[in-house]
Amino acid sequence: MNTSLPPATDTAPDPGADLLLPVPDDDGAPFWEYAARGELRVQTCSDCDEPRFPPRPCCPHCQSFTAHWQRMSGRGRIWSYVLPHPPLLPAYAAQAPYNAIIVELTEAPRIRLVGNLVAAPDAALNSVDPARLRIGAPVKAVFHALPGGPTVPRWVLERP
Ligand SMILES: [Zn+2]
Repeated sequence: MNTSLPPATDTAPDPGADLLLPVPDDDGAPFWEYAARGELRVQTCSDCDEPRFPPRPCCPHCQSFTAHWQRMSGRGRIWSYVLPHPPLLPAYAAQAPYNAIIVELTEAPRIRLVGNLVAAPDAALNSVDPARLRIGAPVKAVFHALPGGPTVPRWVLERP
């Protein structure tokens, strides 16, 4: 009888293991490629200069199909946030309470990105005390390589 158990390990499990991974599509692929280089870029219309997110082929303002990827400073502010409550997927329940924030970008206030506020790029999802979350707080993008997945932007407080 073959019983296959996971190999024994004496190191703590990675707190980022088993989290859901983004699935890049063709329109969004450049976002992830730039993130892997530590750059936050937003798809921007080359005709009317309007940034758009999520990425898509056509500008919703002028219907142009030409676009480029504008580099952002990575600065923004917390527009809103939630503290997800159980029931949660097991990998997330292990880190609760953690936060999910919506960030309004400084250079493109109509662009709002969903992410997590963390104490450092590779820190756990629950590394910031929920009592520190404030709508309007200035934040800055940092980049974290997900185990087995793409590099994602995360956020740290400008004034930790
Ligand atoms: Zn346009």
